[in-house]
Amino acid sequence: MKQMALIANSRHELQYRLDVYQSIPGDKMPKSVTPEGLRKLGVYAGAAGFWLDKSRTKNITDDGAGVTVSALVTGKSYEDDFDSDGVIYEYPTSNRPSTYDQSRVQATKTAGLLKLPIFVIIKPTSNSTKRDVFLGWIEGWDDKSKTFLIIFGLTPPKDIPTGIDDDDDPFIFTSSKKSESSKSKNSRKRKFRFKILRRYQNVCMVCSLTVLQLLTATHIRPLTKFGSDDVRNGLLLCQLHHKAFKADLFGINPSTLQIKYRVEGPNKNQLKITIDDLSHLLRKPHTKALTWHWKQWASKNKLSLSSAEAEN
Ligand SMILES: [Zn+2]
Repeated sequence: MKQMALIANSRHELQYRLDVYQSIPGDKMPKSVTPEGLRKLGVYAGAAGFWLDKSRTKNITDDGAGVTVSALVTGKSYEDDFDSDGVIYEYPTSNRPSTYDQSRVQATKTAGLLKLPIFVIIKPTSNSTKRDVFLGWIEGWDDKSKTFLIIFGLTPPKDIPTGIDDDDDPFIFTSSKKSESSKSKNSRKRKFRFKILRRYQNVCMVCSLTVLQLLTATHIRPLTKFGSDDVRNGLLLCQLHHKAFKADLFGINPSTLQIKYRVEGPNKNQLKITIDDLSHLLRKPHTKALTWHWKQWASKNKLSLSSAEAEN
């Protein structure tokens, strides 16, 4: 009986949130509202990070912990990971005891699991009097990289929030997409980036840089060459090493995972690469993807293909 009540409360909350969003004037996303207006709507209390209206949302879960209602996006750090389609949102850290932050992260995961949207609030510029408000759906999270993937829209995403990517799934390259709207392209790119950051834990694979804003999810076999968004077809590289990889300044031997350089250079030191091979990775890119790239790279650099030909 209690379970039924929780489900009913969750449905009620979903309708409530959709109604509140629809009630804000404007027919495009984001909508523009004053902070005072947001408070009146009951979606915002002015605090940084996640906000939950416990008195209203405690009856949605059996532990009474509540469900996140809104997230405030602050700071320039989001420039790279934010646009009109969604955001990769870092777990907030406050000066309060860590249980405070943990409970808010938990309440945000609950919003994802219950498919309840949250209001994502942004101050467009430092002197804006209004706030941009998006309706966002929690599409995934990762406790290691401490990030949520939030996708904006009026309808929930089709998939349930993404769990751990599975190395036992069949690995296939897909043919490149025929036509793709810019919205779906952006959300696909963001999802790929999120999965790569999660898998490789926010570190450049070849130099150990950990600055999130400088890390890039790189396709090993590009989509334009019939690659895929399979997480195992990706590398996590800093912008320097992303460029170097794209410019074929180094290759990765799929058999030994050693990083190899062009005979004519630049060499390892010149490229500021500090790691000799990828064997340190707990989870590795797929051999098929590395082999595809190695064959192209080795033939351009007139290296022996024996190790490449051993595979596939
Ligand atoms: Zn790097």
